[in-house]
Amino acid sequence: MIAERLHEVEAEIERARLRRVRVAKEAEVCLVAVTKNHDIAAMREAIDAGVGHIGENRIQEAKEKFERLDRQVKWHLIGHLQTNKAKQAVRYFDLIHSIDSGHLAVAVNKAAEALDKVQDVLVQVNLAEEESKSGIRRDGLMELLRTVDSMEHLRLCGLMLIAPNYADVEECRPLFREMYEIFCKIKGMEWQRANIEYLSMGMTHDYRIAVEEGANIVRVGTGIFGQRQY
Ligand SMILES: *Cc1c(COP(=O)(O)O)cnc(C)c1O
Repeated sequence: MIAERLHEVEAEIERARLRRVRVAKEAEVCLVAVTKNHDIAAMREAIDAGVGHIGENRIQEAKEKFERLDRQVKWHLIGHLQTNKAKQAVRYFDLIHSIDSGHLAVAVNKAAEALDKVQDVLVQVNLAEEESKSGIRRDGLMELLRTVDSMEHLRLCGLMLIAPNYADVEECRPLFREMYEIFCKIKGMEWQRANIEYLSMGMTHDYRIAVEEGANIVRVGTGIFGQRQY
């Protein structure tokens, strides 16, 4: 079941890629399978069916899985990170999607230095300016990108967006489009260390539109594993 759903999501991503108008059709898309609240057996099944990237949103859950999972994969932290968990985040994750303040950047940089690592990170943007969501707002974005870029043990790799949960998913499109414009703009700028290559946006309900509008990382949970049990 997981393998079938996974292959359907992969096929949908390919179809969305071919529908692109403003964005190069060739630019590939990395699928992050979001395994939060799913067990190790489900993770193994997905990995054995071809998943190479997994996403978790809680440090404690990721730590337990990391210690038990007997498979090689890339780990993505997609959830909000608290500064006091920075050290564990740096230990377990290949890419942290959720840097949203200078304060957090400082903590992650310090943790990475202590572990002698250069941590790949994305800056999470709250483009719709939702009160309930984390992410930096437009007006603070450039300053935060500069701050992250200035840190020796961080490598800024791009941007991440969680779109609002609109009743009509098409309403996400202008936000995705604006994110892609910002992504292209910062990709063309001069940085000290940054290597801007990823635009992480799109979840189960909106990843097709995100891919059409230029996402090159999508984060899909329910579409692969079914509904989460809480
Ligand atoms: C849970 C989660 C996802 C996956 O959501 P689905 O709707 O299950 O695909 C993607 N991104 C983030 C940040 C999440 O927390």
